[in-house]
Amino acid sequence: MIRQAKGKTPRRPAKKPSNNQKDPVGVYCRVRPLGAEDEECCIEVISNTTIQLHAPDGLKANRNGEFKETQYSFKKVFGIKTTQGELFEDVAKPLVEDLIHCKNGLLFTYGVTGSGKTYTMTGSPGQGGLLPRSLDMIFNSISPYQAKRYVFKPDDKNGMEVQNQVDALLDRQKRDSQTTVPKTPTTRRIDPEFADMISQEEACKADGVDEDSSYSVFVSYIEIYNNYIYDLLEETHIDPIKPKPPQSKILREDQNHNMYVAGCTEVEVKSTEEAFEVFWRGQKKRRIANTQLNCESSRSHSVFIIKLAQAPLDADGDNVLQDKNQVNVSQLCLVDLAGSERTSRTRAEGSRLREAGNINQSLMTLRTCIEVLRENQMCGTNKMVPYRDSKVTHLFKNYFDGEGKVRMVVCVNPKADDYEETLLVMRFAEMTQEVEVARPVDRPICGFAAGRRQRNQAFKEELTRRLEERGGPLDGESPTVLNQLLQSFPPLPPCEISGPNDDVTLPRLIEALEKRHKIRQMMIEEYNKTANMLKSVLQEQDSNLLSKENFIQEQRGKLGEKDKTLQNQKNEIDRLEKKSKMLEYKIDILQKTTNIYEEDKRSLQHELESREQRLQREMSDKRRMEARMQGIVTDSKLKWEKECERRVNAKQLEMQNKLWVKDEKLKQLKAIVTEGKTENRQPQRPSREKDKVPAKRSASPSPVPTGPPIRPLHRRSHSAGGERWVDHKPTTNVDLDTVLQPNIPNSIKVNAPNEKALSKCDKYVLTHQELASDGEIQTKLIKGEVFKTRGGGQAVQFTDIETLKQENPLAPSRKRRSSETGPDSESNEGDWTDVQTRCSVAVEMRAGSNLGPGYQHHGYQKRRKP
Ligand code: ADP
Ligand code: MG
Repeated sequence: MIRQAKGKTPRRPAKKPSNNQKDPVGVYCRVRPLGAEDEECCIEVISNTTIQLHAPDGLKANRNGEFKETQYSFKKVFGIKTTQGELFEDVAKPLVEDLIHCKNGLLFTYGVTGSGKTYTMTGSPGQGGLLPRSLDMIFNSISPYQAKRYVFKPDDKNGMEVQNQVDALLDRQKRDSQTTVPKTPTTRRIDPEFADMISQEEACKADGVDEDSSYSVFVSYIEIYNNYIYDLLEETHIDPIKPKPPQSKILREDQNHNMYVAGCTEVEVKSTEEAFEVFWRGQKKRRIANTQLNCESSRSHSVFIIKLAQAPLDADGDNVLQDKNQVNVSQLCLVDLAGSERTSRTRAEGSRLREAGNINQSLMTLRTCIEVLRENQMCGTNKMVPYRDSKVTHLFKNYFDGEGKVRMVVCVNPKADDYEETLLVMRFAEMTQEVEVARPVDRPICGFAAGRRQRNQAFKEELTRRLEERGGPLDGESPTVLNQLLQSFPPLPPCEISGPNDDVTLPRLIEALEKRHKIRQMMIEEYNKTANMLKSVLQEQDSNLLSKENFIQEQRGKLGEKDKTLQNQKNEIDRLEKKSKMLEYKIDILQKTTNIYEEDKRSLQHELESREQRLQREMSDKRRMEARMQGIVTDSKLKWEKECERRVNAKQLEMQNKLWVKDEKLKQLKAIVTEGKTENRQPQRPSREKDKVPAKRSASPSPVPTGPPIRPLHRRSHSAGGERWVDHKPTTNVDLDTVLQPNIPNSIKVNAPNEKALSKCDKYVLTHQELASDGEIQTKLIKGEVFKTRGGGQAVQFTDIETLKQENPLAPSRKRRSSETGPDSESNEGDWTDVQTRCSVAVEMRAGSNLGPGYQHHGYQKRRKP
């Protein structure tokens, strides 16, 4: 994995890994105690997040109540009793922790002059501010894991390199020889000027420091005054006679687009004291420079930059990994801004007026930038933020554009004089709280196994112990081992020279020493051999370990991949489960709907069936009723027909009787008239041909029609071989043994008249027997003519009745029979003797019909065989 060395300021958003999480700028408020000379207090802390401003009495009167009480809320408010330690705990400690975990931070104090910015940032003796406390916490956390000096070396492009051990050593030697600065003190030896700034009792430490990394701290200290940047740590020869004004620095952008002060001194420091000493040196220089530039310190911004370089140890856990890409640099900027008051408040004259304007210009730009940022973030606009308009904003551009943690301590002096300025400060602070900065992401871990440093240390200890056992340390640090060693050498001869001519002692001594030297050489050789052997064994083990570690790493990678796949699958399963639940739910609903529909269907079918049944029932009822009605109709029709017939017959008889009576009367009248001329002459029957009235003197009224047929019937032609008769003799007739019997030649004899016979003939005669009034049987020959009816049937028109009568001479005769004829005798005859009925039945009946007899026959179609 290739990682870019981090620059002075955080990376740009385009470069940083995707991070959507943002935090608002943390704004804290610190209220300093009222000065001894000030009386009126216009600020009240009403909760640990809110303060209330009261307009001072004078202002209230002047502005006519325009200045009301106003409240301002912050992430936290620190009242006058807040100690430096408490403030550090809340405000700076998280930033230091971030720094150690490779995250950038920016902390600045803002407020009018005299509000306690410098007190908050730097502090005073016995009450160290955020800066010394931050340094102390950093060193407390990383000092066991610090790299040797000059292992990390800043390049001049805001990057950090790792030097090899030899170069680092050479640099260290050079430093030792050049300066009188003592090496990193093992005990704290502190400049009395700032000794009390760093209290050891309140020492705090960051958690989770990576022990397998090496750390180095670098500090820079710059001052921005009048929009110029000055390096406060630059080593310059100050000519006491003709001091040169300090040279300003320029801002540059590194390859990661982070802003940095080009050519700025970065001092590697190894302890809190050393770091604070460097800071103090900068402070002194600042004072001198300010005198040279005729500037008050409250008019300039000071920026103290703490850079922490960290790189993983190599696989042995012995040295820093020689890989620039593995170096991580995080930085914490502690900024003490210039007083925020307006020009009018400064006693500006001449050249100072320009200066004051510029101070305001820097802070104005800061305000504008915050305003635009806020607007962009809140309204989704994309206005250009004018970072470049001032050095301060330009330097910190990446904090707002990129990622990091930004915190601001707003310092306020509750005195009445500051009221109006404090109001402005509050407004700026409120606005700043609404700006959000991307949260820095955790740095990726390096590929080496953890616990390398400890293993290496344990190994070194073990090696020393073994060497001691062998009595081999060469440094002579262990006196017992040295003594043992000395005893193993051949003893030295007496080395006292007896006189100037003693040439025995020295050569003997030389010889003995040479011997010893030889032994020593041999021992060294043996030691080296053993050491080499040990080294190779160790190297082998190391490589074994390394390969195992690699293997473990590989497995870990695989595990990670598997985990990822598992997670993906889990997600997928979750998704599918959700989907299936959804579908189940839908199915449930559909099932319910289906059930409802089915029930509906069932009930409808049921209803349909019942209705059909009812319909069936009603239909059969109707049919039954129809049949019954038909029967009733037929019955009543028949009855009425019969009734009508009976009545007609009765009427006819009545009429005929009347006619007969009249006839008789007429005859009697005639007889009376003609009595004189033809005496004793019996009344004769009138000729049938003459008057066409049947002459019936002694017969009961006969149903002979009174006139010729008036119906327009077609008469059969007589031309074809004379008349042909249908001789109708009912089988019920009694043979009377009479002499005179009609004998009709060429006739068709029938028992009952039939269609066939009638169609062949044109005359018809019925031999009819009936009981006469005197009790004798009387035979009537009822004659008629056969007509073809319009409908194709046959009809008989009765034209004549011949009555044949037998008389018993012994029986008393009745002269007047007419009186005996009446309804009684008629009814006595019975149905079967009724001529008309019989004829009707015989003649007019339609062939094959069940219906009763009738006088007319209509629509008869003679059935012909095909
Ligand atoms: P600034 O830097 O804002 O101009 P200073 O930090 O120089 O203000 O403070 C002005 C004076 O007020 C100093 O003498 C400082 O000791 C004192 N002072 C400021 N804040 C406090 C505080 N919280 N407690 C005690 N004294 C304070
Ligand atoms: Mg100050």
